[in-house]
Amino acid sequence: MKILFLGVGAAFTTAEYFQSNMLLTADSGKKLLIDCGSDLRFAMAEAGVGVGQIDALYLSHQHADHLGGVEWLAYATFFAPSLPRPKLFIEENLAQEAWEHSLKGGLSCVDDYPRDLSSFFDLRLQKENGQFVWEGVRFSLYKMPHVMTKLGNLYSYGLLIEAPGREPVFISTDTIFAPEILEKIGAKSALIFHDCETKGPPSLVHCHYQELRKLPKEFRAKTWLYHYQPNPQFDAVKDGFLGFVQKGQEFEFPRA
Ligand SMILES: [Zn+2]
Repeated sequence: MKILFLGVGAAFTTAEYFQSNMLLTADSGKKLLIDCGSDLRFAMAEAGVGVGQIDALYLSHQHADHLGGVEWLAYATFFAPSLPRPKLFIEENLAQEAWEHSLKGGLSCVDDYPRDLSSFFDLRLQKENGQFVWEGVRFSLYKMPHVMTKLGNLYSYGLLIEAPGREPVFISTDTIFAPEILEKIGAKSALIFHDCETKGPPSLVHCHYQELRKLPKEFRAKTWLYHYQPNPQFDAVKDGFLGFVQKGQEFEFPRA
């Protein structure tokens, strides 16, 4: 069981980093994409991954650096009848909002049939804080606060991933600093990949490096940082983290 970081950057990143989308490879060899941002087709080409290799997609939230490549992926498989529709694991409210606000414009009018997400994907709707299984691997959704405003809130769904014979791994996806949630996750996870912005002033929609640095030593010691701005000016290893994930870096899930 492996996770490949196709990109490690934030929304406004460059091709040197690409947006923070990941590719899981199960022991069976099947591949699941975690998020599908607007630069995904370039990141996949650079990693040598073809559309036909994608068995499933998980979407964490609606921002374009995580969802902007979905129209491309949908049509790339829709117009290639030899390719099976990818499975799409997604929280049920997010599925509705993503279709109505982001995807319907480009995907609803394609032929003589009414089209929706299930026309392009084998849709597997999830409850918030629910669980699903793919290739024998259990995924638990964690509702992470991302953009909290007086007009409404936008959440991102992080994942605790438990594969047979492997230690649990957590991916935060996009989140503000949420120490109460992290305390629970830290106790359950052997390895953590956490959203981390590195430029100031803090955006208030991501977790800043200076906030993560306040976490207990034991938590930092199992945490890799990603979703950062170009050329981070911090020495993450010296500060007790495992480091900044590099684009193209792949991790084997720790054996239990
Ligand atoms: Zn976001």
